[in-house]
Amino acid sequence: MTLTGGCLCGALRFGIDGPIRMRGLCLCRTCQKVSGGAGNMFIGLEAGAFRYTRGEPRRFARADTSDAPAREFCAECGVHVASRSPKAPGGLIVKVGALDDPAAFEGPDMVFWAQEKQPFHLLPEDVTIFERLPGQ
Ligand SMILES: [Zn+2]
Ligand SMILES: [Zn+2]
Repeated sequence: MTLTGGCLCGALRFGIDGPIRMRGLCLCRTCQKVSGGAGNMFIGLEAGAFRYTRGEPRRFARADTSDAPAREFCAECGVHVASRSPKAPGGLIVKVGALDDPAAFEGPDMVFWAQEKQPFHLLPEDVTIFERLPGQ
């Protein structure tokens, strides 16, 4: 699978050359902030399948926990494209909205952090729903 994408202004571009390993929707409060409120839809990839083809992202990780994911975003337009977690060092996740062809997502297989969902959030049917993360 080959996919491309980038931020809003085009200063940051990326390419994906490898299979999608996970199709997720995260409803945690951080993803609500990042996404605009509806939760964050993302694809999970092996880290080696992803590379920036233009620009270098800024990175931000919360300082109040030692294992917070690092969020990668464009320094010009502020759009967040990817995250890497110390809990999953071999992989990363990419926001579906940053893809040139978001239809490649095909919808989530798993929902994370359902315990932080808002009353107006709709849960997809026939998917695995975790109150927090798998194993927690
Ligand atoms: Zn940008
Ligand atoms: Zn989240």
